[in-house]
Amino acid sequence: MKKMILLNPGPATTTDTVKYAQVVPDICPREEDFGGIMLSVSTELTMLVGDPAQYTTVLFGGSGTAAVESILSSVIGEDVVIIINNGAYGKRMCEIAAVYGLHVMEFVSPSDSPVNLSELEAMMKRSSQKITHLAVVHHETTTGLLNDIPSIGELCRRHGIDMIVDAMSSYAALPIDMGPMNISYLAASSNKNVQGMAGISFVIADTSKLESKKERKPRSYYLDLYAQHKHFSETGQMRFTPPVQTFYALKQALVELKEEGVQQRYARYTQSWEALIRGIKRLGLKHLVEEKHHSRIVTSILEPDCDSYSFGDMHDEMYSQGFTIYPGKLNGMNTFRIANIGDITYRDIEAFLALLERYLRRIGYYRG
Ligand SMILES: *Cc1c(COP(=O)(O)O)cnc(C)c1O
Repeated sequence: MKKMILLNPGPATTTDTVKYAQVVPDICPREEDFGGIMLSVSTELTMLVGDPAQYTTVLFGGSGTAAVESILSSVIGEDVVIIINNGAYGKRMCEIAAVYGLHVMEFVSPSDSPVNLSELEAMMKRSSQKITHLAVVHHETTTGLLNDIPSIGELCRRHGIDMIVDAMSSYAALPIDMGPMNISYLAASSNKNVQGMAGISFVIADTSKLESKKERKPRSYYLDLYAQHKHFSETGQMRFTPPVQTFYALKQALVELKEEGVQQRYARYTQSWEALIRGIKRLGLKHLVEEKHHSRIVTSILEPDCDSYSFGDMHDEMYSQGFTIYPGKLNGMNTFRIANIGDITYRDIEAFLALLERYLRRIGYYRG
């Protein structure tokens, strides 16, 4: 099959074996055989970040936002949730919380530098209302900024706050250990670093914390986290029709993830990222976030300051050559984004850099 190099931050380039894993005989998902697949997938997903004796994975059909929305709408009561907003995905959590009328304290932080932990702690101490939860994005896909989850988790531990982490673009690449990091609820999806197909999102929860929500009146019917968990643990089934073929692809993607190993996968991504950073520097371009705070997964690059530059033209030229690049998502700053996730290597990044050089020469920006 023709290989398209997706440099957008997910869905990522997949292997042919993951693509073809979807071609299976028709099966009713209510059959025990299919329940077994969902159970093994959910256990594998848990084991990447915690002990299945203590944590559980709750599966949903939907894009990643479904998992984030399920946590926010299901586990927070009438008390306050602090939401850290340092990019589009932190902002999205604030928007979700507003839809459900949650009591939010928004902690706004710059999109290109680390969260100020003493200011965050001051917010916790200052509050006259009870703060029960804090929600934060692990890796802000908007910029490539990595939030310091261990330190934020430690603050939460000190103040008796349950931490919710949107780990959509870090899960399966960066090491995550829910216990030591003090993560109570984590959201991720099938189509980023897991390198599966889009369509499955999941919540990994501290089982006893989730079970303590049993009596809570749900705010959402479809995204009710406790109900989804209860139904799956009692019947081995999702409450509603699962994306059947996407599960077969996810099962294969998890086999391939195990073969490669999370650490090795991140080493491969890092090698691609280093090639990218060397390349853009050579071409006179700058990236937004300092290397020290960078995820090495998605890079926000400042657009060339040049009249003849057009993201649309650059995109179309690359797309016709099999490379997909992505626009920026920052207010007030002109950036485009390059992700180095998926089934690609530094060689693909080098091929992209050759196309970028050709484009930048043509518009007269690069004359090296
Ligand atoms: C991709 C992503 C999401 C989910 O986006 P969907 O389009 O709903 O899959 C949420 N948070 C972060 C940080 C992401 O990178």
